[in-house]
Amino acid sequence: MSGSYLQRGQRCCLICGMQHSHSPGSIVDRDSEPLCSKCDSPLWSCSDGSIETEDIAHQRETVVVALEKCRAALDRVWQHSHAEYLRLIVGGGRIGDAVQAELHYLQSQGTILDYRQENRGAVLIRVRN
Ligand SMILES: [Zn+2]
Repeated sequence: MSGSYLQRGQRCCLICGMQHSHSPGSIVDRDSEPLCSKCDSPLWSCSDGSIETEDIAHQRETVVVALEKCRAALDRVWQHSHAEYLRLIVGGGRIGDAVQAELHYLQSQGTILDYRQENRGAVLIRVRN
């Protein structure tokens, strides 16, 4: 990841570029994100169309650890990027199954917008519009 909006406690409005000093909230609290005081755009949910990729399954992770990494990756992409998608490398097998169930739940809660299997070992999660 790169860009000028990575400093701790800082967030640049994607639309007008104004810098704000807000600490980011968790993606599960996305409904209460603050708006830009200059142009009224949401500070966290605007997308720049990019994709972030994270591998959560190839360091001998257990299912529990992989799910924790999944949640952490979602928060990281929400808080520190403007990416539209998070691509999770889940491998085949039990981690992939568990992540699918988790994403089904997160979508039902409105935490993520959408997700789809990209191929057997990767799932593409839409975090922003
Ligand atoms: Zn703005």
